[in-house]
Amino acid sequence: MSKFLCEKYKNLEPYVPGEQPKDREYIKLNANETSMLPSPRVYEVLRSGRMKRLGFYADPDALELRNAIAEKYEVTADEVFAGNGSDEVLGMIFLAFFDEHSKIAYPDISYGFYKVFAKSFGIDGTAIPLKEDFTVDVDAFIASGRHIILANPNAPTGYVLPVSEIERMVASDENRLVIIDEAYVDYGNETCIPLTKKYKNLIVVHTMSKSRNLAGAHIGYCIADKELIKDLNGMKYSFNPFSLSDFSIAVGTAAMKDSAYYEECAAMIIEERAYLSEELRKLGFEVLESHTNFIFVHHPVMHAKEYQEKLKNAGILTRYFPQERIDNYLRITIGTREEMEAVVAATRDILQKAAA
Ligand SMILES: *Cc1c(COP(=O)(O)O)cnc(C)c1O
Repeated sequence: MSKFLCEKYKNLEPYVPGEQPKDREYIKLNANETSMLPSPRVYEVLRSGRMKRLGFYADPDALELRNAIAEKYEVTADEVFAGNGSDEVLGMIFLAFFDEHSKIAYPDISYGFYKVFAKSFGIDGTAIPLKEDFTVDVDAFIASGRHIILANPNAPTGYVLPVSEIERMVASDENRLVIIDEAYVDYGNETCIPLTKKYKNLIVVHTMSKSRNLAGAHIGYCIADKELIKDLNGMKYSFNPFSLSDFSIAVGTAAMKDSAYYEECAAMIIEERAYLSEELRKLGFEVLESHTNFIFVHHPVMHAKEYQEKLKNAGILTRYFPQERIDNYLRITIGTREEMEAVVAATRDILQKAAA
């Protein structure tokens, strides 16, 4: 730590992304990314004249992309804010709407960045425990009197709340901001975006890193009432108007316009999710019912940390969270059939050797 680091940042606990070791080739199932290719339209735009404008700044309003998103979700571009990944969008939301007088609540087991943002920006954040069965305690969130941020479906548990439960939180108090992070909504779930027409205190956040196969381009967006979006744009223009590169705007727009392709990809993930869940259950694992592109598993005998290390030795990366309540679970991203067969084969081998 240098002597120049601000006092208020000395106790930061930065988010830890999934590892990217380079010592060998791995099957990478630790960050809910995908080895599946983006839509052919994404490659077309990269080869097209569209990309010859890199000597100029991108459109800071990213209108081309926001229009494509607006069209897909039947909203208007002024109800869409886009940024460099949903992490940046979430960061802008925290910066714009919360300060040291704000109180916000998130589940104890959820996407780790919510707590990091609260800490980074000096906001009073509280973790509300998931119920015993890992479902969200909606009544406790409502009773907290706090702003709310939730991933739905949740990560790393994979459970989903019905939209009616989201609406109950949003409708409970018009002075409470409810932020719903729908990073995994496309894997067979209903979005709560239509509620943004009815409520001015709801922000729905999406990412193109998961179901649009574009983690490397890092594009995120949110949909909300246009006054909220105006505030977010003001924040962005006070910080970095060009946070989305022209490259990201172009490929994000192309991807947004090919939903048919991505629906096929999501259908394939759902199929592979069922396959891997079933195979691991046959091998004695408890597999939580997932509504996402990952599963969360637990073995009665082999500890999750040991399982993770042995899978890594076999060339497969997964995600382990050394956190109370879930420190004997492992999160495995769903990939192609070939990748899933590799997990099953390695697991069989690991269990056999452990039993010998
Ligand atoms: C992956 C993920 C994000 C981050 O997405 P980016 O757009 O890549 O920043 C945010 N929230 C949840 C719940 C996620 O799983």
